[in-house]
Amino acid sequence: MKNLKKSPERMCIGCRTTHPKKDMIRVVRSPDQAYFVDLTGKSPGRGAYICRNEECFRRAAKEHGFERAFKSNVEAAVYESLRKEIFPNEAAREES
Ligand SMILES: [Zn+2]
Repeated sequence: MKNLKKSPERMCIGCRTTHPKKDMIRVVRSPDQAYFVDLTGKSPGRGAYICRNEECFRRAAKEHGFERAFKSNVEAAVYESLRKEIFPNEAAREES
C-alpha cells in the first residue's frame, strides 16, 4: 500500500497546466473588488493561481486569464500593478 500524500495542485491561469500549489502565486480578489498578491495563501476571497514565471503572466494578460478566473472585468492597470508586485525585477527592465 502506498501512502504518498499528494501535494495540492492548482491550474495556472497563464499556461493552464497544473503545478504544486506551493510553487505558485495566488492572486486574490477581496470582497471590495481589490486585487492583490496573497503571500500567505490564506486570504479570504476568490483566488487565481499563476506560476512564478513572467511568461505565464504575459499569457494570462493576453488571454484574459484573470477575467476568466474571477469571472469579471479586470482592468489593464490591475494587470500592470500585479505584474510589478509579482515580478519587480522583470518590470524594471522593460523591453518591447
Ligand atoms: Zn504557468
